[in-house]
Amino acid sequence: MSSAASTRVPTREQIPVAVLGATGAVGQTFVRLLHGHPWFRLVALAASERSAGKTYREATRAIFGDLPADVLDMPVLPCDPSAVEGTLAFSALDASAARETEAAFARAGRIVLSNAGAHRMDEDVPLVIAEVNPDHLALLDLQRATRGWPGAIVTNGNCAAIVMALALAPLHQRFGVRQLFVSTMQSVSGAGYPGVPSLDILGNVIPFIPREEEKIGEETRKFLGTLGDRGVEPAPIRISAHTNRVAVEFGHTACMSIGFENRVTPDEALAALCAWQGAPEARTLPSAPSRALIVHPAPDRPQPRRDADAGGGMSVTVGRVREDDVLHLRLVASGHNTVRGAAGASILNAELMTARGLVPR
Ligand code: NAP
Repeated sequence: MSSAASTRVPTREQIPVAVLGATGAVGQTFVRLLHGHPWFRLVALAASERSAGKTYREATRAIFGDLPADVLDMPVLPCDPSAVEGTLAFSALDASAARETEAAFARAGRIVLSNAGAHRMDEDVPLVIAEVNPDHLALLDLQRATRGWPGAIVTNGNCAAIVMALALAPLHQRFGVRQLFVSTMQSVSGAGYPGVPSLDILGNVIPFIPREEEKIGEETRKFLGTLGDRGVEPAPIRISAHTNRVAVEFGHTACMSIGFENRVTPDEALAALCAWQGAPEARTLPSAPSRALIVHPAPDRPQPRRDADAGGGMSVTVGRVREDDVLHLRLVASGHNTVRGAAGASILNAELMTARGLVPR
């Protein structure tokens, strides 16, 4: 947390928050990142009927990082808005449960910050990276008008799409990206728990992640798109994506070849990447890293083992910016999938909404 320069919101008391899907890979990352948060207080943990009624200690099967001692004896509740308190509901729900459950919480007046894919591409649902497209939060007016609910759903993207969009944003804003070829190497924690069987992944690469190539294309275009009266006009980028699951624990890496409206040199691209700091309103939020994008000069970086934890897991590292014989440029981007690609991104979006006065207090 970059606490020294943090935005100050007029706090009467901390905002109560819940985590839905608290027992999984992303849910546990939420619990860890919310511990000691200056604005938010964790008041409820919820998961499936399999876990409801157990303590958090009993219900978490695999452990994704150190869990704070004071949450281990909290009860795990069913994902029912009448049982779960909290103004904000951070959702780390499995895709199968997210669509209905998140809508039920929004109907009950809660602000849902979702990691699931269920609502991301709905035209009235903001898909936001705080530093890239905070203006897309304006879609909430359309959402409340069309759905008639007192709460809201705001989403963050697929874990690989967030890493890619952060690296592409400075280049798209400055030069206009038009074509993208991307091949990803995605960690096993990206599949949640139990995820991919160990005998399938150890010493192996699996060149298929269900629906991932489609999500990467549509979400990247929405992140980098333009806000209009009836939703987001997607960025006009043609995308060819290959997604691979690899035997890495944390951190997704994307090798990209990029074509622009006009030719861009590596030096011009590097200057744009190094200068970019993202939307000013996002920079001083408590969970914002000092730099959302780190440009690494070494020829063999980024690497997930060395770079996934940069900026507390909230920075994306970019390197190997060079010419491409087919399109214009090539580069590599890497970032932490459960922090920047999931829970950390959601918490940053919640901080952005709080700073803007969009969270009832
Ligand atoms: P996970 O480890 O499989 O955890 C899934 C969570 O959802 C668990 O808490 C599980 O509870 C709960 N759940 C499953 N079925 C449910 C139901 N019917 N009702 C209520 N809760 C239910 O998955 P994950 O990797 O944390 O991913 C969570 C979500 O975030 C997914 O939508 C995923 O696509 C998305 N996401 C994941 C990543 C990543 O890097 N892993 C990144 C970005 C987005 P039980 O323990 O009780 O079964």
